[in-house]
Amino acid sequence: MSRHAPQGAETRPTHTIEDYLMTMHVMERDHGEIIAARLAEMMAVAPATVAMTLKRMERDNWITGTGRKAIHLTETGQAAAHSVTRRHMLTEWLLVSILKVPLPNIHDEAHGIEHAISPQLEERMRAILGDPQVCPHGNPFPGCESVVSNWIPLTELAVGETITIRRIHELAEDNPELLKFLIENGICPGAQVHIVDILPFNQTLTIGVGKKNVTLGFPAARYIFAEKP
Ligand SMILES: [Zn+2]
Ligand SMILES: [Zn+2]
Repeated sequence: MSRHAPQGAETRPTHTIEDYLMTMHVMERDHGEIIAARLAEMMAVAPATVAMTLKRMERDNWITGTGRKAIHLTETGQAAAHSVTRRHMLTEWLLVSILKVPLPNIHDEAHGIEHAISPQLEERMRAILGDPQVCPHGNPFPGCESVVSNWIPLTELAVGETITIRRIHELAEDNPELLKFLIENGICPGAQVHIVDILPFNQTLTIGVGKKNVTLGFPAARYIFAEKP
């Protein structure tokens, strides 16, 4: 491997491949498989670029099934995907709770740092940060999926219900405008809100946050998960 790697991480994939692996982990976790067309959308790159990268990733044994319908991570690919996802999430905690970086900025900042963290540093971060099970946005660390399994999307709630926001899905984290809008309006993990209005014909849902009402479209509301009392 030509690029310099952190100590103990010599077999790690490149930064680009790590970014793919983290997105693939989310897709496989949520849908049981990886679909190339969706990957191009989520990574915001051309389908031809994705196709080339997937071929390389299959050659290097991170994935199987390229060119067929469903792509899956290999055991090695899954281990590498879990590793970079953990480093991303621990970095987000480091940024928000120790360095006091504002919540809307931590996801992008973490993307720049996560690749450089050695296994030794990861262990120290985990210990100092109190072994978290979800990231600051409420997304589960790999292996901690059961922690979030009772949290339901806002679109599945009824008018009048009071709930606690627990999670902003990774796909919303990856949308800086949406993420900023949510956080600026007080829609972040821990916030108590109530459902004011649901208009299916309009595909909108209005929630009461403190003294104000915030209207969301269903596509965004599906990315926000809450816990019932
Ligand atoms: Zn993130
Ligand atoms: Zn996060």
